[in-house]
Amino acid sequence: MYGTGKKLWLPPQATGLDPDRDKQTEAPSEEGNLQAEEEDDLDKLLEQYERQAEADKAKVLSTKEEKALAQMGMAELRESALAKPLSAQTKGFQLLAKMGYKEGEGIGKSVKGRVAPIAVDLKSGRTGLGIDEGRKRQREAARLVKEAQDAKRRRGMEDLHSDYITKQAASFADRQAEQHLAQARKVCETLDRRKGITENVMWPLEPVSDGDEKEDAVEEGSWESFPAAEKLSDVLTCLRTRHLYCLFCGCQYESRDAMEESCPGATEDVH
Ligand SMILES: [Zn+2]
Repeated sequence: MYGTGKKLWLPPQATGLDPDRDKQTEAPSEEGNLQAEEEDDLDKLLEQYERQAEADKAKVLSTKEEKALAQMGMAELRESALAKPLSAQTKGFQLLAKMGYKEGEGIGKSVKGRVAPIAVDLKSGRTGLGIDEGRKRQREAARLVKEAQDAKRRRGMEDLHSDYITKQAASFADRQAEQHLAQARKVCETLDRRKGITENVMWPLEPVSDGDEKEDAVEEGSWESFPAAEKLSDVLTCLRTRHLYCLFCGCQYESRDAMEESCPGATEDVH
């Protein structure tokens, strides 16, 4: 190998030394060797530079300093410091400067190398990045499960609500039917008796004093055991056909024609 290997050969324009220095030192005569040696030296410098950058990185990442920075609220300061090129005060920079490196340029022969320090993945805590990823996935999975549960709960609530509305409506209709039925049965008895009719299952039930007897009064399968709406329909039909009476018009008609002319129909809805 040509040269001492320790000394660094630099072109005169880069060192600013005596142009005759070439002759005093063992200047290479062949251009190929000269280039090869220059590249070797540059590689060593680049290695040093990278080591310096790694050292800086390690320094920044040390847990103690991380905590101190966090406590002092200096995280932003650190970020901005890392974003800048190395300061001219660092050893790495000074070594490069000897090679003719100028601040702000990229390193390497083509001046297109790294300008800023090696990018650092900053993280605090003792867990690895892989564990963070795992936890991130777990959190995402948990979030999806919760979303699905919430949606299911909402649907359940909606179902419950619509069920409640339906039941309320049904129970309102039942109460209405019960009320109309009671009225209709009374009218039915009055009009029947006027006609001399002495018995009708549709008349109001005899009031009973004992609760137990009342339960026994409704026989299974009897007209009395039918649903209120059904019984109402029967009593209304009886009133209309037998007495030309409409509960919803609230009057008895003189003739079938008069009833058909004035009464809109048999149900409450059409009135
Ligand atoms: Zn009517």
